[in-house]
Amino acid sequence: MAYRVPLFNLNFDEREAQAAYDTIKSGWISTGPRNAELEQMFKDMWNVKHAVSMNNCTNALHVCCMVCGFGPGDEVICPSLTFAASCNCSRYVGATPVFADIVGPEHINIDPADIERRITPRTKGIIVVHLAGYPARMDEIMAIARKHDLKVIEDACHGPLSAYKGRKLGTIGDCAAFSFFSNKNISTGEGGMFITNDDEMERKARLIRSHGMSTMSYQRASGHATEYDITCLGYNFRMDDIRAAIAIEQLKKLPGDLETRSKVRRRYEENLRGIERVTVPFIGCGEFTSNYIFPIVIKDSTKEKRNALREYIHARGIQTSVHYPAAHLFSTYRELGTVLPKTEYVTNNEVTLPMYAALTMEQVDEICEVVSDGIKEIYG
Ligand SMILES: *Cc1c(COP(=O)(O)O)cnc(C)c1O
Repeated sequence: MAYRVPLFNLNFDEREAQAAYDTIKSGWISTGPRNAELEQMFKDMWNVKHAVSMNNCTNALHVCCMVCGFGPGDEVICPSLTFAASCNCSRYVGATPVFADIVGPEHINIDPADIERRITPRTKGIIVVHLAGYPARMDEIMAIARKHDLKVIEDACHGPLSAYKGRKLGTIGDCAAFSFFSNKNISTGEGGMFITNDDEMERKARLIRSHGMSTMSYQRASGHATEYDITCLGYNFRMDDIRAAIAIEQLKKLPGDLETRSKVRRRYEENLRGIERVTVPFIGCGEFTSNYIFPIVIKDSTKEKRNALREYIHARGIQTSVHYPAAHLFSTYRELGTVLPKTEYVTNNEVTLPMYAALTMEQVDEICEVVSDGIKEIYG
């Protein structure tokens, strides 16, 4: 069934098509000038020293774990209420993810107090996720990291241009990763970005991205180099120039897109404030945020009732989702035996409603009415 109101809508027009076409016509389609331009745009917009494009965020997170020096025997603390890539990445380098709980339904990001409780002599780092583009409690998290000499990776996939006390998300920890997957704020199909203010981390990331090669094909093709050395074990994590050209157009649109999303978010908040059963996470957060998704949590609910509410909404042509199925309960992580009561409540009772710039105020009003009617019918 195609939904009348989908969860997400791609903000594409002729500009992305033209940019891809122009790149194809240019004769250089792999990593080259469009990637360099995209990296420069990121550095300028984020006010960060280094940006290294990647072919997706999962690999950017893998690079983060490598440049932070995580390895076998190390423990890396991360949230469970996130996409699996946020915790899988520490396993790529042989480390073990240690799941920490969220603050609660009002703030569904990782809880600094629970991070501290889970620190052992083996802990080497923390992976923070800024869910829905709303900042995690970075002051507390950075203080814990400094106290215990831990590296901090920001999985900033949900938060391009989101702010925290005057800084952009992704520029507060040691390094960060962004995703350009189709349904993210910046969409290129597949794609990602690694950013850092650390020169050595950038140098390593650039080598890891391309087999540890000391020069790139584009440098050789343009006559700037004739040979290369393999200096370390690297991978092929490169983004092609066709996608970089699309990302550049998406970045140009981003500030305006986020302004419109803020209006959508405000309308949701106004409408839902009166519904007793609904908690809107991060309500009252005064920061500029990306509003990647719009999650709500139902109070005094069960998973069965939440699922019935989702079906009620779907039957009226509106798509919903769940962010996220808790990672610590997936079969690959269940053997760790982690118990996270707040994460478990939210994963069972959260509903993600449609969020994108093209959503009209009338549509938001209709969605909220359907949610309100559904709650009356299912919860009484
Ligand atoms: C989308 C997403 C990823 C993975 O990004 P890819 O580019 O698809 O690899 C990682 N973490 C979070 C929080 C995400 O939402």
